[in-house]
Amino acid sequence: MQVLPTQVWVGDLREEGKLNIAVLSGKGGTGKTTLSTNLCVVAGANYIDCDVEEPNGFIFLNPSQIKSREVKVDYPVVDSGKCTLCGACAQVCQFNALVKTKREIVLFEKLCHSCHACSIVCQPEVITFGKRVVGIIEEGKYGNLTCKRGILNVGEPMAVPVIKELLEDLPEGTNLIDCAPGTSCNIVSALRYANGAILVTEPSSLGLHDLKMAVQLVRNFNLPFGVIINKYEVGEDRIQKYCQQENIKILEVIPYSREAAEVYSSGKMITELPEYKEKFEKIAEGLREVFPWN
Ligand code: SF4
Ligand code: SF4
Repeated sequence: MQVLPTQVWVGDLREEGKLNIAVLSGKGGTGKTTLSTNLCVVAGANYIDCDVEEPNGFIFLNPSQIKSREVKVDYPVVDSGKCTLCGACAQVCQFNALVKTKREIVLFEKLCHSCHACSIVCQPEVITFGKRVVGIIEEGKYGNLTCKRGILNVGEPMAVPVIKELLEDLPEGTNLIDCAPGTSCNIVSALRYANGAILVTEPSSLGLHDLKMAVQLVRNFNLPFGVIINKYEVGEDRIQKYCQQENIKILEVIPYSREAAEVYSSGKMITELPEYKEKFEKIAEGLREVFPWN
């Protein structure tokens, strides 16, 4: 199994008064956002869309009173009149964002991680910092629930600054954090704020493979977690067998249904179907057993 570089990232950013549950899926297409949005409504949790490269949960919740603000990051500005072209800044930059040429220091701004190391090794007042916009945070209301999402600007390679700003300002109470699919650093960043996790999977071989990676990730963070099997078809029991072997709680098994797919495809909530509403109520009950739900 692939070794995940979580140890270097682990740092507890959880806060009193907030129960943050991350919703993960090892792979895309499991129905994670559908499950997250419907579960928020049934369980009375705030919805936080952390899938900043493709934040589409608002399509279903359609929140009102939306406010937005920009997310900005620092980038170095070299005063060419004061620069001696010693090259120390380019040498110290771990991200190859600075290159020394014969005439100047050139910045590749999208590689810059805003760490400020270049200014530390330089003389005072040669390097200052400007700000550039990399995305936005939007916040609105669905009834009493708060809905927030981060949106990364097209062409920006680093989602972490948007994720960090989104999660540093979460509302009080219970928040479901709809993470990006996979187990990349975007998800690792989000898990630093989480008190628990829901892993959404589907019963295919690929679903099982990616679920194992997601399980490894949440176990590295020592988070309580449960699994939801979505799009289940009779006879596809590999996920149940794995969860039994690993002593993992299955929160719910949701069967594949053409009717649900049609409701979902038209941008509606699947809890409009009574049998699905019942299932989501059961998941909310299951969550209270796994997490210290309040
Ligand atoms: S460290 Fe400062 S003086 Fe040296 S090349 Fe970089 S900007 Fe110029
Ligand atoms: S701020 Fe950090 S990442 Fe950006 S150019 Fe300077 S040393 Fe490199």
